[in-house]
Amino acid sequence: MGRISRIPQAIVKLLTSGDRDCWTIEEIQHSLNSAGVAADFSSIFRASQKLEEEGVLNKVELNDGKSHFEITRRHHDHLVCQKCQTVSQIPCEFFEKSIKKTVLDMDFQVLSHTLILEGICKTCQSIEVR
Ligand SMILES: [Zn+2]
Ligand SMILES: [Zn+2]
Repeated sequence: MGRISRIPQAIVKLLTSGDRDCWTIEEIQHSLNSAGVAADFSSIFRASQKLEEEGVLNKVELNDGKSHFEITRRHHDHLVCQKCQTVSQIPCEFFEKSIKKTVLDMDFQVLSHTLILEGICKTCQSIEVR
């Protein structure tokens, strides 16, 4: 069963290397298989769910019906390109804005939030112009 316990380790290693933020299960599977780690979709999905329960990974919903996972780190929000699906991190401005006062006035204790800005990335805009 050595192969099975390697999968979570391989996922964490993959997601902590490089600049990429959010990964779908398909993308994780493709990269692991290319790196010589034998793992099928359901093994990776189960391992990712477990890592999420342990707090190692954070599940990100991006309104595309897929599960995206990222390494848990300082909270940030996301920009999603509607053409190439590239996901970029943006610093969270939530509590800098007037919404903070509004929420405080409502006596509501915020535990989490999700902000997704959907649009067209710089690369895709330049392709469109040509
Ligand atoms: Zn992220
Ligand atoms: Zn794009």
